[in-house]
Amino acid sequence: MKIAVCVKQVPDATVHKRLDPGTHRLDRSGEGALNATDVNAVEEALRLKEAHGGEVVVVSLGPERAMESLRKALAMGADRAVLVSDEAAAGSDLVATSYAVAKALEREEADLVLFGQQASDGDGAVLWAAVSDRLRRPMVSQVAELTIDGGSLTGKRQTEFGYDVISAPLPAVVAVSDAINEPRYPSLKGIMGAKSKPQEVVSLADVGVEAERTGETGSRTTVRAVAPPAPKSDQVRIEDDGSAAEKIVEYLAEKRLV
Ligand SMILES: Cc1cc2nc3c(=O)[nH]c(=O)nc-3n(C[C@H](O)[C@H](O)[C@H](O)COP(=O)(O)OP(=O)(O)OC[C@H]3O[C@@H](n4cnc5c(N)ncnc54)[C@H](O)[C@@H]3O)c2cc1C
Repeated sequence: MKIAVCVKQVPDATVHKRLDPGTHRLDRSGEGALNATDVNAVEEALRLKEAHGGEVVVVSLGPERAMESLRKALAMGADRAVLVSDEAAAGSDLVATSYAVAKALEREEADLVLFGQQASDGDGAVLWAAVSDRLRRPMVSQVAELTIDGGSLTGKRQTEFGYDVISAPLPAVVAVSDAINEPRYPSLKGIMGAKSKPQEVVSLADVGVEAERTGETGSRTTVRAVAPPAPKSDQVRIEDDGSAAEKIVEYLAEKRLV
């Protein structure tokens, strides 16, 4: 079974996020990391490969430095990495991103495409839906348990009220939640071995994407202005001199919250 895992490099959790007032885009110049639920998606792909055999390929659209994060997936055990990297893709919104990612996936012809549920920078939780629509494949999101049986999958999908159990024929797209597994840490052997695994950087043209369908020209949304959140005016700072607990209770009582 061939499994493609879509992953994204996001700003590391320790990096203060800043929107560039000139481009209106997120400043991605600081330390990057593999998006957290994408690590769960890689782990799930590796478990499925261990059970059913096959290949795990990680696929991403991003700047060349995103390969650093893809290498973490290789160190965990993925077989190869494909990074679509092209200046023309800068400024791609969801519509343009989903087009380029779907084209890269078409080239892979995977039986199963895994996504993380949500990226910690864009927070859209929507790319998998857009990509599955472009690929015309069934899609199950928020999956907390996944099994493959012959030519179909069954996903236990977390909802507000419990679980939905959904089956779909392969090839299909699945977005996993962070409850699905406990990702392994890359071993030293895995980290060293990752360096020699295939790491392909391809252009938009290589995956059949017309440059004008990505970047700002291919995007349907425009960010017209960005601004930091307004400071909250009713903040109260309580220093703990031994009476902080009482003061907090007094404050909450004043607000009629206790
Ligand atoms: C006007 C505008 C301009 C933008 N310009 C840029 C830009 O210049 N550079 C930039 O990086 N982003 C840019 N973005 C953000 C970009 O469109 C989103 O990152 C992208 O659409 C994915 O959305 P998300 O981050 O909300 O991911 P979600 O929908 O929350 O992600 C869900 C899952 O999709 C997968 N995934 C997400 N992104 C990728 C990816 N790139 N490759 C492979 N898999 C992925 C991961 O598995 C992830 O867990 C821009 C957005 C707008 C609106």
